[in-house]
Amino acid sequence: MKRRIVAIAMIVIMAFVLMSCSKKPNEGGATPSVTPSAGGRFTPGTYEGKASGYGGEITATVVLTNDRIESVVAFGPNETENIGSIAIRDLPPEIEQKQSVQVDTVSGATTTSKAIIEAVTAALTSAGVDVSKLAPVEPEATKGAALPEEMIAVDVCVIGAGGAGMTAAIEAKAAGLSVVILEKMPMAGGNTVKATGGINAANTPLQKELGIADSVESFVEDTMKGGNYLNNEALVRTMAENSADAIAWLDSIGAPLSTLSFSGGATFKRMHAPEGGAPIGNYIMNTFLNNIESNGIDIRYNTKATKIIMDQGKVSGVIAKGKEKDYKIACEAVILATGGFGANEAMIEEYDKKLAGYKTTNAPGATGDGIVIAQDIGANVVDMDQIQTHPTVEQETSIMITESVRGQGAILVNRNGERFYNELSTRNLVSNAILQQEGSYAYLIFDQQLRENLSAVESYINADIVKEANNLSELANDINVDPDKLVSTVANWNKTITEKGQDLYNRTTGMDTTISKAPYYAIKVAPAIHHTMGGVEINTKAEVISTDGKPINGLYAAGEVTGGIHGANRIGGNAVCDIVVFGRIAAKSATEYIKTH
Ligand code: ADP
Repeated sequence: MKRRIVAIAMIVIMAFVLMSCSKKPNEGGATPSVTPSAGGRFTPGTYEGKASGYGGEITATVVLTNDRIESVVAFGPNETENIGSIAIRDLPPEIEQKQSVQVDTVSGATTTSKAIIEAVTAALTSAGVDVSKLAPVEPEATKGAALPEEMIAVDVCVIGAGGAGMTAAIEAKAAGLSVVILEKMPMAGGNTVKATGGINAANTPLQKELGIADSVESFVEDTMKGGNYLNNEALVRTMAENSADAIAWLDSIGAPLSTLSFSGGATFKRMHAPEGGAPIGNYIMNTFLNNIESNGIDIRYNTKATKIIMDQGKVSGVIAKGKEKDYKIACEAVILATGGFGANEAMIEEYDKKLAGYKTTNAPGATGDGIVIAQDIGANVVDMDQIQTHPTVEQETSIMITESVRGQGAILVNRNGERFYNELSTRNLVSNAILQQEGSYAYLIFDQQLRENLSAVESYINADIVKEANNLSELANDINVDPDKLVSTVANWNKTITEKGQDLYNRTTGMDTTISKAPYYAIKVAPAIHHTMGGVEINTKAEVISTDGKPINGLYAAGEVTGGIHGANRIGGNAVCDIVVFGRIAAKSATEYIKTH
């Protein structure tokens, strides 16, 4: 719906641009319909260029006057919401301001940014402009000048606008505190916005409605088992006990979750997702952003926290660097929600040499800043060498294929067309199993029925990473697998499901439907860095623990920046549960601290 509104708005803007231009538009590449006026740099007119973005075609409409790039509008309705859409919004004004295509890409939205630059370049080239001669215009004021400083005084400073930070900020504001959120990227969302699966919770009304006899005990046990019992059990229990309430809270702020499915390592269906199995990350992030806006919460983008200031053993402020300003935040409490370090190659290598050179599914902001900032003021860290790879990542694009695809019935086959492991075992084990196959990759195989049940599949199709064929033999040929083998593998799998037999690899979940409705689909996958389980030590009140074992006064942390909850391996659906549960607890604890200390 939102995407449709954006699309309509862009069409209206483009129509306005076209109407407001006195010259006739020139369709990409055609000879301009007007001649340059004497002495003008450009041939005035409206020009269009196209390029291929992350999710489909991007069109740029550029209006030139005699001597200026008057306006640039980009249109790319299929770019990822809250990621590519930010580049669509931010890059055209930047090109207008700099009067050049030599602009920085928007961090976190590189593919879309490059496509916008390419489309604008095509439009300018069709106008006869040599873009290499358009040197960027730097505003006079920024040349070599020191950045101005802004002081902000608030009760609580939240560092990081991913799921944990947004949750904490909304709850802190609801408790009556004044809040500022610092986010180093140009957009909110972090890894959270990329979450496609769902949120695990036990004892929810939806489970009860569907007759699922889940329990907090079972949730704790699955999480501990999945984490190889390295987990901090008190944190796990806190997460499980508060999980149903997290679902109720999301509902109360406008994000109801009505779909249930299995995730890897879960005994019961407890992964809650939006209607139709839509990706959870973008869904909750839109809700968070709406709440941040309607509650008037101050959020500063492009603002990187670099230091927490302590005064007489208590947190007293934060130093941050913005694009146009330096910041000094005076606050009584800090909630650290900077996410993990899955996008920091050096840090990954430092803690696990075997993972050097791995691709990552992580947002570029996941560089472990919060861990370093907290260590600087004495915080303890735990489980730093516990780094999870996600088994099903398309390697060219680093797009992670959600566990729900397997949860809804997809199988994994190797290059011989054979299954080789329980696809819904834990991530570390499935990753290892794939790495042991010839070529160290596998194919996810599924059918039309699964596509219809899981809207996340549409985004993979839009990104052009899915092979599609009318029957399994054709699909096998397309992916260079022996057709007879693939046909017999799927037939055996279907037989196990229809006869409710014992699976060859002891798979027991995600077996509700056969793979039998054409067309058939395949996605080539291999493991990539996905989640860093280690991080800052916290207790069940989300207080950050120092190396001497005591809480640091006024410092709280939630989400992937923390360590201990997930042990040696995080099970699917637990990251979102972690951020909502501990984001809320961090806000509650900070509120109590501020009101009582
Ligand atoms: P979680 O929800 O588990 O906290 P996310 O990865 O979703 O993790 O969000 C973390 C957010 O913190 C990201 O948006 C990231 O860009 C932001 N971030 C990381 N380091 C800093 C920093 N030094 N200053 C401000 N924001 C940061």
